[in-house]
Amino acid sequence: MNERKIAKERIKKLFDMAREEAIKDNLDRSRRYVQLARKIAMKFNLSLRDYKRKFCKKCNVYFTSKTSRVRYQKKDLRVTYTCLVCGNVQKYPYTREKLKKGKN
Ligand SMILES: [Zn+2]
Repeated sequence: MNERKIAKERIKKLFDMAREEAIKDNLDRSRRYVQLARKIAMKFNLSLRDYKRKFCKKCNVYFTSKTSRVRYQKKDLRVTYTCLVCGNVQKYPYTREKLKKGKN
C-alpha cells in the first residue's frame, strides 16, 4: 500500500468515527476527527469529494439529522445543507445520482 492509499483509509476511518461521535452528541470530538481528516486530505492532496456534503466547512461538525438540515430545491436544481450548529449554508447542484445514493 502506498502512502496515499493509507491516507485515504485513515480519512475514511476518521469520518466513520466523526459520524459515531456526532450521533452520540460528542460534537467537539466529532469536529476534531473531521479536522484531522481534512488535514490529511490536504497534506496528500486528496479529494474529499465523497465526504464534502457530510460535514460543515465552517465549523467542521459532522452532519447528522440533528446537526444539519437538507433541502432539495427542485426549482434551481440545488441542494442546500444548513449547519444547525453554526448556521452556515452550503449549496450544491443536485443530480439524480446523488439523490439515490444520499444516506443523509
Ligand atoms: Zn457549522
